[in-house]
Amino acid sequence: MSEDGLIYLMWSDLVGMARARGVPIGDYDSRLESGLGWANAGQAMTPFEHLADNPWGPVDEVRQIPDPETRFEIPADGVNPAIQAVICDSRPAPGEPWGACVRQFCRDAVADLKAETGLDLIAAFELEFLLEGDDFVPEAPFAFRAAAAQHGFLTGLEQMLAAAGVGPETVEPEYGRGQYEISCHPRAALKAADAALVSCEITREAARRHGLRASFSPKPTPNHVGNGCHIHLSLADSQGKNVTSDGAGPLGLGETAAQFCAGVLKHMEAVLAFTAPSPVSYHRLGPHHWSTGYRCIGLQNREAALRVMPGISRDLEKAAKGFNIEMRAADCTASPYLALGVLARAGLEGIRGEMALPPPAEIDPADMTEEEREKAGITPLPASLDAALEALKTDEVARAWFADDLYNSFISIKSWEADYARSTAPDQFFACYRHAY
Ligand code: GLU
Ligand code: MG
Repeated sequence: MSEDGLIYLMWSDLVGMARARGVPIGDYDSRLESGLGWANAGQAMTPFEHLADNPWGPVDEVRQIPDPETRFEIPADGVNPAIQAVICDSRPAPGEPWGACVRQFCRDAVADLKAETGLDLIAAFELEFLLEGDDFVPEAPFAFRAAAAQHGFLTGLEQMLAAAGVGPETVEPEYGRGQYEISCHPRAALKAADAALVSCEITREAARRHGLRASFSPKPTPNHVGNGCHIHLSLADSQGKNVTSDGAGPLGLGETAAQFCAGVLKHMEAVLAFTAPSPVSYHRLGPHHWSTGYRCIGLQNREAALRVMPGISRDLEKAAKGFNIEMRAADCTASPYLALGVLARAGLEGIRGEMALPPPAEIDPADMTEEEREKAGITPLPASLDAALEALKTDEVARAWFADDLYNSFISIKSWEADYARSTAPDQFFACYRHAY
């Protein structure tokens, strides 16, 4: 890594944005202990130029303290200088946790899961985005020519991700006009969230270097195909062995994994307030778009909020290694740390309560009759951010997952965004989210 220029101290906030302050690389070591200050109230930033009401006001600040393991570089390319960055934890003082830090929230949730079950939560994010640009011509869905036409960008993106230590599993054109996708490798939860954050920022930078723009907005316009952020989850024992499946349980899930899924389904509405946390998220969710519209689980069912994905191999051991559960009701307006944290919390509730998995959706849940859905306990997902926030407020178990400052600021920001959506003309509303994300 180069030794001159700037390194950006970067942190993610409640609206899933990577914020940053730069310091000369020569001063980096001296910043490792106490980082840089940042007004507490900064944690109440909306995605726009607006600070939501918050418990802190103008007084006090946290420290953004680098986690040196996360340092990465986007290489120079002859025109653009190298960019270095490092992910920070927000702390009131060195070594002390802050209740409103999203990275700490995720760390604590997976630590509690581990302490009570001995299991690690492993995760991998699939990130869909829209490419745009003056000379950009969208090609047919999934087409080779859609890849070839953007090969400079795609291959540059792969190199930049690999150089940053987050090399992708796959990179491909998607279904929508101008839509592409990268899939991250599975990692322990906190590292998986770090990788998702870095992957989105690098995608934006790779696009910029190729005269393009990448937007991860869940619904760039009312007519575009939605951009999902599917989160693949599995549980690993202390040897690192994937124990999500034991072949005998419902849908091939092991007993603990089935309880984990039951917990996520039980708290799905509260979870949704964090995984689909923007008014624009609810323009993506809904039946018949493969984005999911129903609170249910299904084997390889792309219309279910939780899709069980068995590993593919004739070798049973290898198949068990790849077995995972895909949370489909998530998008990139979510903080990856909050998203994984609430999934870990909800799953842990399922394990604690030894919750039983409801019957799976064997077909598109929208094609079942109302009676069939009722019998299987399948309900529509909230249709708006307001509805998800209302559900969150009535879920007393979920309320206990959060420190007051995080919970109250989150509700304040999100209520402001819901009001903003109501009071803004549709064109401007979609454009603002498309630009912000
Ligand atoms: N674009 C779809 C979504 O909004 C997902 C398509 C897919 O299955 O990859 O989630
Ligand atoms: Mg996809």
